[in-house]
Amino acid sequence: MSDKNITLIGAGLVGSLLAVYLARRGFNVEIFERRPDMRKENISAGRSINLALANRGIYPLQQAGLMDHVSPMLTPMKGRMIHDKSGNQSLQPYGQRPEEVIYSVSRADLNKLCMTQAEQLGNVSIRFNQRCESIDFDNNELLLVDEENGNQYRHTFTRVIGTDGSASAIRESIQQKQNGKNSVEPLDHSYKELCIPPSPNGDFQMEPNALHIWPRGGYMVIALPNIDGSFTVTLFMPNEGPVSFESIKDKTSLETFFAEQFPDAKALLPDLEYDYFNNPTGRLATVRTSPWYYQDKALLLGDAAHAIVPFHGQGMNCGFEDVWDFDQCIEQFGDDWQQVFAETEKRRIDNGNAIADMALENYIEMRDSVNDARYLLKKQLSFELEKRWPNHFIPRYSMVMFHRLPYSEAFQRGKIQNRILDELTENITDIKQCDMEKAQHLIMRKLPEIIS
Ligand SMILES: Cc1cc2nc3c(=O)[nH]c(=O)nc-3n(C[C@H](O)[C@H](O)[C@H](O)COP(=O)(O)OP(=O)(O)OC[C@H]3O[C@@H](n4cnc5c(N)ncnc54)[C@H](O)[C@@H]3O)c2cc1C
Repeated sequence: MSDKNITLIGAGLVGSLLAVYLARRGFNVEIFERRPDMRKENISAGRSINLALANRGIYPLQQAGLMDHVSPMLTPMKGRMIHDKSGNQSLQPYGQRPEEVIYSVSRADLNKLCMTQAEQLGNVSIRFNQRCESIDFDNNELLLVDEENGNQYRHTFTRVIGTDGSASAIRESIQQKQNGKNSVEPLDHSYKELCIPPSPNGDFQMEPNALHIWPRGGYMVIALPNIDGSFTVTLFMPNEGPVSFESIKDKTSLETFFAEQFPDAKALLPDLEYDYFNNPTGRLATVRTSPWYYQDKALLLGDAAHAIVPFHGQGMNCGFEDVWDFDQCIEQFGDDWQQVFAETEKRRIDNGNAIADMALENYIEMRDSVNDARYLLKKQLSFELEKRWPNHFIPRYSMVMFHRLPYSEAFQRGKIQNRILDELTENITDIKQCDMEKAQHLIMRKLPEIIS
C-alpha cells in the first residue's frame, strides 16, 4: 500500500473538506460514507438544515480556495432578534463592527459543494452506502457493510481518519485498542425542526439578517434564515417534565403551548403540527475522548473527536479548524504520521473541551439570560471596554465567533473578563456610572495583551 493513500470514514462536512486539503497535498483519498449521495437523494429532512458559519470555519474554507463558491450561499446575521411573548422584537447585535456578523448556510449545500470540489481534484473517490463497522488494526483492515445489500467485507488501508460524526465507529475501535478516556454526556434537552416558509411572493416573513430567538427560560425556539426566503426553526426543550417532549404529545397540547409561548412564530408556522409529529426529535450530547489517534494508523477529527451541543453554533466551525490544524501538522512533520497525529490531538483537544463547555453555557444564555437586565448591562459594558482597550478586552462571544485565538484561551480570558464585569457592574444600572479608571486598572492588571 502506498504511503500516499488515506482513507476517510464519513463524507460529512469535516470529511469532505478534509478530502480537499489532502487531495491538494497529492494524497489519494478514498472515503466510505454510510449514507447515499445527498446530491442525488434528499436525505437531510428534519436534521439541522442550516448552520451558523463564523470566522473560524470561514478561514479554512478560504485557505482551501472554496469561499468564492460558498459566499453566494450565505445569509449574514447581525445579531439575535429577541421575540417576547407579545411578539415585540429587539435586536441584540453580536458585535460592534460591520464585519462582525455570522452567516446562515445550508448544511446540505455546503456539504455537497465540499464533496464536489474534492472529487473534482481527481484523486478523491467517495463510496456511498458503505458503513464502517470497526477497524482490525492488526491486519490493517476496515470492516465494512454495503448498506444496499447488507454484504460485509474487509478493505485494506494504510491510514484512516474517522470523520464519522458523534457516534463514531472509528472512535470505538481506537478506544478498544488503547483503553483511553471516553465520555458521552447526553443533554436532557432535545430538539425538533420546524419551518417558516417564504411569503406567497417569495419574501422573508421576518427580518432576514438576524438569528431569531424566543427565549422562555427552560426552553426556547430559534430560527435561522435560508436563501430561499424560508427560516429553519428549531424548538429546544427538556425531554421530560411539565414542559417537555414527553408532555407535549398531542395536537391540542402543541397548539396551546405555541399559542401561549410563541404566538407570533405560530402564526408563521403553517405546518407546525405535521413537522412536530413527523420530524425526528434530535438528541444532543457532548463527547470527550482521548486519545484521538492510534499509532500512525488512525486519527479522529470533527464531531467524532469532540461532538458538542449546538448552542454556540461552533461544531462545524471547530471541525473545520481541526482540518486546518491537521494540515499544518502535515506541513510541519511530513510523513512522520504518529507525530502528525499526536501533535494534532495536542493542538486541538483542549480547544475541543473549551468550546464544549462554552456551548453548554451558551444554552442558558440563549434561552434565559438574554432577557436579564444585568446580562444586558454587562454586554453593553463589554462592548465599551472593547472599544477602549481592544488589544486586551474582547467580549467572549466575539473571541469565539469573530476571532481565531484558540478556544481554550477565549474560555480562560472569558472567565477573567466575567469577573471584571461582575465587579464593575456590582452597584450600577447604567454604564455611564461605570468607573472607567477602575476598569482600566483591572483590565491592564488581569488581561495580558492579545497576540493574534
Ligand atoms: C441542531 C444542530 C444545530 C447545529 N448548528 C450548528 C451551527 O450553527 N454551527 C456549527 O458550526 N455547527 C452546528 N452544529 C454542529 C455540526 O452539525 C457538526 O459539528 C458537524 O456536522 C460535524 O461535522 P462532521 O463531519 O464531523 O460530522 P457529521 O456532519 O455528523 O458527518 C459525519 C458523516 O459520517 C457518516 N458516517 C457516520 N458513521 C459512519 C460509519 N460508521 N461509516 C461511514 N460513514 C459514517 C455520516 O453519514 C455523515 O455523513 C449543529 C448541530 C446540530 C445537531
